[in-house]
Amino acid sequence: MSQSVLQQVQQLRQQLEQYSYQYYVLDEPTVPDAQYDTLYRQLQQIEQENPELITADSPTQRVGAAPLSKFGQVAHTIPMLSLDNAFDAAEFHAFCKRMADRLDTVQAFSFCCEPKLDGLAVSIRYENGVLVQAATRGDGYTGEDITSNVRTIRAVPLKLKGDKVPAVLEVRGEVFMPLAGFNAMNEKARQSGEKIFANPRNAAAGSLRQLDPKISAQRPLMFYAYAVGAIDDATGLLDSQSHYQRLMQLKDWGLPVCPEIRLVSGAEAALDYYQDILQRRASLSYEIDGVVIKVADLAQQQALGFVARAPRWAIAFKFPAQEMLTTLLDVEFQV
Ligand code: NAD
Repeated sequence: MSQSVLQQVQQLRQQLEQYSYQYYVLDEPTVPDAQYDTLYRQLQQIEQENPELITADSPTQRVGAAPLSKFGQVAHTIPMLSLDNAFDAAEFHAFCKRMADRLDTVQAFSFCCEPKLDGLAVSIRYENGVLVQAATRGDGYTGEDITSNVRTIRAVPLKLKGDKVPAVLEVRGEVFMPLAGFNAMNEKARQSGEKIFANPRNAAAGSLRQLDPKISAQRPLMFYAYAVGAIDDATGLLDSQSHYQRLMQLKDWGLPVCPEIRLVSGAEAALDYYQDILQRRASLSYEIDGVVIKVADLAQQQALGFVARAPRWAIAFKFPAQEMLTTLLDVEFQV
């Protein structure tokens, strides 16, 4: 392999690490996501062609960033991973084919289709129905303890509804800032000459990762659950073999679940879902940057398993880039 390929890999890694630090640790991105994604894909491509160059600390093998030391740390017993991406229908079909080959099946998959909410992932732990802990994703294995801040989000129940609740339930989902709240908050900041936030994702991350929960409490944050982490459940209510049914159970326990989630059969129906949400994107009350398409059958999910940083049974089907560099550079950021 040539010296220049090695150099290119080193340069890409350095650049991506710097962008990741600004994005995940400081909540202050300096380039649009599309630019980060392009560099990331370049690195992925080179590593695919030269697998001997892959190192454990390459950005393609890692999730997020290490938690900030100013917060207490929470170890995730079940890791909180990232998602692989597809940017067009051909890549989505390739994802379906990889899974079909691996499972040696010709049957159509049942997919749980969900909007890809643009916020930050959190894990909320309930013991005997009571919220006891909440953490950020961090590097996937260790997150930041943000329990006091999550408690201030009104949509998050402090106690689950119903008599039958699991002994332990870790709920995973996205904390985000709906557009109306984001715009109102920025308008107020503009009028009083304070700094404004670049986008709702940045605002949500900055608002949640505050040492003072009183600040989080003033911010219009929202939460939607989209997965289950560790469980100790004797109720039998989570026994269903379907990811979708589990989400519906979370809803019954009083957890907010995005109303746009659909269970569909086959790749074409999943592509229709993508088109439908893309068309309605501007009318949604929150920002999304794509849809997430997950194999609904939990036994199939388990059989498919994980690669380094993402499950094999789910894909983030991203929308075409909207964000412009000028938008990011024209505004100042607030953490
Ligand atoms: P990702 O955002 O592409 O996908 C994983 C995340 O999707 C999950 O952690 C979760 O938070 C979220 N998600 C939203 N809805 C979901 C749902 N219904 N089900 C499951 N997950 C859902 O991956 P990532 O590793 O968090 O970050 C990569 C993204 O961050 C890229 O888009 C990249 O452009 C951006 N990024 C940007 C910069 C920058 O400098 N601009 C730097 C680093 C990363």
